[in-house]
Amino acid sequence: MAELGFIGLGIMGKPMASHLVKAGHTVHVCDLVEESVTYLCSLGAKGCRCCNEVAERSEIIFIMVPDTPDVEAVLFAKDGLAQGLKPGSIVVDMSSISPIATKEFAKRLSAIGVKMLDAPVSGGQVGAENATLSIMVGGSLDVFERVKPYFELMGKNIVHIGGHGDGQTCKVANQIVVALTIEAVAEALLFSAKAGADPAKVRAALLGGFAQSRILELHGERMIQRTFNPGFRIRLHQKDLNLALQAARSMGLSLPNTATAQELFNAVAAQGGSDLDHSAMVLALEKLANCTVRG
Ligand code: NAD
Repeated sequence: MAELGFIGLGIMGKPMASHLVKAGHTVHVCDLVEESVTYLCSLGAKGCRCCNEVAERSEIIFIMVPDTPDVEAVLFAKDGLAQGLKPGSIVVDMSSISPIATKEFAKRLSAIGVKMLDAPVSGGQVGAENATLSIMVGGSLDVFERVKPYFELMGKNIVHIGGHGDGQTCKVANQIVVALTIEAVAEALLFSAKAGADPAKVRAALLGGFAQSRILELHGERMIQRTFNPGFRIRLHQKDLNLALQAARSMGLSLPNTATAQELFNAVAAQGGSDLDHSAMVLALEKLANCTVRG
């Protein structure tokens, strides 16, 4: 049984860390929200006051926080992991952040003898709770092999993509597909409602054909039932599409539909919807159409 660390116990981190605890490992946890730490401790985890305490007690430390500056703070701020990490320990960043910053973080950790993997995930809250996440990993193969048994407690489809940052690049690609599919599902349901067909029945029919997808299944249902509690917050998807658009610009690559999807998220956010689930992109299309999926 290993001494593990887990930092960031939000929508995703809480169930992911709990799988490690339930497998019998000693998991040292930390979050800015005290109730989340208390909850994990009630399952058997050990609470820490700051990140460097987690680093001092753990061989492998998992991070699951919102954005690039949050990961940088967890790693390098005063009381950050770098203050307590021992040479030979491994940091596994499972947050979705910038591939470029990831390479930089890996270099800084390497200078103090610490190995890093980037291992962002797909599958959402349901995947985290059911330990069925897809995990896309960047970093060296030997470190990947060492961490794989712990990934297997949290996910199912675990793929080593390549070097540092490649896991994050894969995740950005994933977020492009997800955003554009949400947009397609929203347009299709809106079209059906305006034409007088029942969107719930349209969704049920499409689920048996070539247009079938998890997004049609889960987010189509959310759009019809108007359940926009997160899930995956619009502000986080804006962050991911920003990474896509910035990188595309620096590479001289045009991503026209990613840009449109981002503008639709921006429109929902402008109406106060930043913390709604990303399926709420449909609200922007409904405003443009002056009708709703409910007819
Ligand atoms: P969340 O906001 O629910 O949780 C983030 C947690 O990190 C919070 O509890 C916060 O207190 C904690 N945190 C932030 N800074 C910290 C610090 N310096 N020290 C300690 N704790 C800190 O976010 P989430 O939905 O769990 O997402 C986490 C990451 O996973 C994001 O990068 C997101 O893009 C990615 N992701 C989310 C989903 C999803 O469906 N929610 C799916 C796939 C990937």
